[in-house]
Amino acid sequence: MTTIKIDYDACTGCRMCFKVCYVDVWRYDDEQDKPIVAYPEDCVHCNMCELECAAGAIEVVYDYDSPWPPIIERGFPYTPGKAEI
Ligand code: SF4
Ligand code: SF4
Repeated sequence: MTTIKIDYDACTGCRMCFKVCYVDVWRYDDEQDKPIVAYPEDCVHCNMCELECAAGAIEVVYDYDSPWPPIIERGFPYTPGKAEI
């Protein structure tokens, strides 16, 4: 399974990782003001969280031998043009 490492000492709590991930990987701990990798098995390896982290606090370590993320089978949370508001 893909591993997403966070350097919590470097993390500034900007929430960008939580915002840019379009699948169900991240949650945010409001009390600690830090992100949580809650469902790494859903990561689709886009690398956006790592690229957008201005603090350089994220490293996505890919496991190319892992099966397709379950979210591919379930369907993405948001269907373009059909989002419920
Ligand atoms: S994008 Fe980086 S600095 Fe911002 S909350 Fe996520 S890990 Fe922390
Ligand atoms: S690499 Fe992409 S899919 Fe995986 S946690 Fe980061 S933003 Fe989400």
